Amino acid sequence: MPAYRRILLKLSGEALMGDDAYGINRATIARMVAEVHAVTKLGCEVAVVIGGGNIFRGVAGGSVGMDRATADYMGMLATVMNSLALADAMRQDGLTARVMSAIAIDQVVEPYVRPKALQYLEEGKVVVFAAGTGNPFFTTDTAAALRGAEIGAEVVLKATKVDGVYTADPAKDPSATRYSTISFDEAIARNLQVMDATAFALCRDQKLPIRVFSILKTGALMRVVQGEDEGTLVHV
Ligand code: UDP
Repeated sequence: MPAYRRILLKLSGEALMGDDAYGINRATIARMVAEVHAVTKLGCEVAVVIGGGNIFRGVAGGSVGMDRATADYMGMLATVMNSLALADAMRQDGLTARVMSAIAIDQVVEPYVRPKALQYLEEGKVVVFAAGTGNPFFTTDTAAALRGAEIGAEVVLKATKVDGVYTADPAKDPSATRYSTISFDEAIARNLQVMDATAFALCRDQKLPIRVFSILKTGALMRVVQGEDEGTLVHV
């Protein structure tokens, strides 16, 4: 029995790069798909929000003189590309996946319609939410919090390159230690970056826990879904 009946998995665009400098690394994507496939076999319903940072980041575009909103729309379109790649890899692995976009792009993917998404999840299909929230000035972290709350996910799983939330940046401070659990309030009081502020506030308001874990560790998603102590749980 999985510890969670329904999860929202947030994958950063960078997670798809593997060791490449940009773009989508096929071996990396195949490994992630295999991990998702394994947890669906336990009966866990999986929705995914994927970032676009491996292709385009609106903040970076804006900082080189582009209109920020335009740059952000480019970033959202980048997430559509990643979503298509992810869903394609899922199909090749024998999973049924549906991509739903927050921006109308009907010839490419179907629009996000909440009841439809819920239906797909109940049918055991993996739903990939593309184009973030559909709004500039937001991030895919916020999209993960938003969609997670909308679909009644029991947890938002943030897969990153770091295996949890640390007392300090482990890359800079070797004495930093990882929290096994931490409350939203304590994370705020200690000024710890878990997700961006909007995403964090939304999860806290909706009492939606966040678990941060490493995408680089094989089997980590399975351990999380089985309720093991993996990464850091941010709770109410
Ligand atoms: N973006 C946006 N609104 C959203 C989600 C994403 O404008 O609701 C844009 C934003 O420019 C962002 C880019 O899409 O920089 C890629 O998303 P994100 O940076 O969250 O990707 P990740 O860091 O997870 O790869």
